[in-house]
Amino acid sequence: MANRLEVILVSKKHNFLRNIRLPMIIIYILAAFLVTATTSTIVLFVNSTRRTFVRFHLTKVERQNRSLVTKLDSINIILKKAQDSFDQHITQDNRERTYWQMAHIHPDIWSMGIGGTQDEYRPQIANRSIERIINEIYESVDVLKGKYYLRQISLNDIHDQIEGNMYLWSHTPSVHPLPGCRICSGYGYRVDPIDRKVRKHWGIDIGAPRGTRISATADGVVSYAGWVGGYGWTVIIDHGFGFKTAYAHCQRILVRKNESVKRGQVIARVGSTGRSISPHLHYEVRVSGMKINPYKYISSSDIIFD
Ligand SMILES: [Zn+2]
Repeated sequence: MANRLEVILVSKKHNFLRNIRLPMIIIYILAAFLVTATTSTIVLFVNSTRRTFVRFHLTKVERQNRSLVTKLDSINIILKKAQDSFDQHITQDNRERTYWQMAHIHPDIWSMGIGGTQDEYRPQIANRSIERIINEIYESVDVLKGKYYLRQISLNDIHDQIEGNMYLWSHTPSVHPLPGCRICSGYGYRVDPIDRKVRKHWGIDIGAPRGTRISATADGVVSYAGWVGGYGWTVIIDHGFGFKTAYAHCQRILVRKNESVKRGQVIARVGSTGRSISPHLHYEVRVSGMKINPYKYISSSDIIFD
């Protein structure tokens, strides 16, 4: 009895009664089997639950990952469009530089050191890592920053060029010294009205009533204001850039030597001093010491002939 277990089976329904004696070894084996089966079931259940949990989270992370990639890709599209639209700035820059007679910025400089053509945007990005997309975004941002910085520098250069041109323009003789008055004698050879000999006339004569206001034809500094032989009372203005203008036969001078004058400023009044037979202005334009035809420095619409 010590090594056996007695089991009595009873069934009233089937009028059954049986007495079974089992060796203890069998009992131990059955117990071990039950423990193993129970443990295995629990382990399997835990593992299955854990796998389900992990799969759920993995699915969630994958969904978040796809969403992140899509958003990053949208940023890439925006940057790509921004780069495309920047080409308009380059076109505009070239247009402005052409207008102001400046050299264009070389395309290699605009490309910010990125050779060749950039790959077209690839919508199939599933196989591209987020890290790679982020690197592309950083690269695009750097290129855009560089381009905008270069455009800013170029705009400053263009601004300086415009200011320089404006300065040159304001110091270039370009208007009529007696607006509305007629030219009675042009530049070149002519019969001298006093001694009737053929001589070269180094300027133009503009007829006007005595006392008419004479205007400076450009900004500059009065380099001479006084009497000059046959020129009579004369004003000479040095405009810089090799330009000088002379206003002769004046009745009265209204400026002094070394005085700065602006275009349109009244500097003298028409007279008939010096070698002159009637009130008029003898106007000369000198470029690097050469007396040249003033017609080239007066708007054609302002020139009126007798
Ligand atoms: Zn003259």
